[in-house]
Amino acid sequence: MYRLKNKVALITGADKGIGRAIAELFVKERATVILTDIHPEIEPCEGTEYLPLNVSQESDWRDVTQRIQEKYGKLDILVNNAGITDLPFCKGKFQDPETFDMECWDEVHNINLKGVALGCKYAIGLMKSSPAASIINISSIAGKVGLPGTVAYSSSKAAVRNHTKSVAVHCAEKGYNIRCNSLHPGAIITDIWKPLMAGGPERQKNTVGKLLRGIPMNRLGTADEVAKAALFLASDDASYITGSELNIDGGMLATSPTGSLVQ
Ligand code: NAD
Repeated sequence: MYRLKNKVALITGADKGIGRAIAELFVKERATVILTDIHPEIEPCEGTEYLPLNVSQESDWRDVTQRIQEKYGKLDILVNNAGITDLPFCKGKFQDPETFDMECWDEVHNINLKGVALGCKYAIGLMKSSPAASIINISSIAGKVGLPGTVAYSSSKAAVRNHTKSVAVHCAEKGYNIRCNSLHPGAIITDIWKPLMAGGPERQKNTVGKLLRGIPMNRLGTADEVAKAALFLASDDASYITGSELNIDGGMLATSPTGSLVQ
């Protein structure tokens, strides 16, 4: 039994990392997948089509929505995955609450928050004709705890977490068959970590060591593991789940900073 048969799915930021892994898994589950990304050179894989989409541009959302309406007549799944951190944008400088750069703040919120809000806005119209639709917003553990070194990222992801609930309640109250939930990955091995891992093997070992100290499962996660959680929320197995949050973090948010206190 394929879990996404006859479903049309749109994934943002699908060129690489978590978005790509979600796309590949959705294709295996027989969804028709529309890959979108800001990169024009993205390679569509079998069972997919590619449309360029900068999530922070409303005109791009309008174009993509029109194309989906004309070609498929509906949308069943939206994964608002595209996102950036403060770090690469701000030339390697940590963005703390005292010194953050305003241009950087705006750019991060434009992509991470406005991009998600626009995605939800345009998807709702397309999803009204779906018998069972699902919006999945990729937030982060940073949407639940403060990360003072990447202050815009954390703020944007917290807003995504809450916007998810507004969308979920709105759709439920209107009687639309549209669920909306947020995913909260912890440390997942993708290019988003590149700036922190740069600087040679010693620096990389240090960064990974620091991360592992906060992860009870003592390993980083993979994009495939996030994709499996997205598949659950996208599928009809999650038919009574809306406005909820799913952590994929190896126990990061479940532990105390002192650890279990057991030697
Ligand atoms: P990544 O950098 O590997 O991929 C991000 C993708 O988003 C890229 O393909 C990029 O081209 C695309 N993108 C960037 N700006 C865009 C825009 N304006 N419009 C459309 N596409 C755009 O990152 P990833 O780790 O795969 O992250 C995916 C999502 O997961 C992000 O929202 C990120 O914040 C979130 N997340 C990642 C981690 C992690 O540890 N990797 C943890 C928590 C949350």
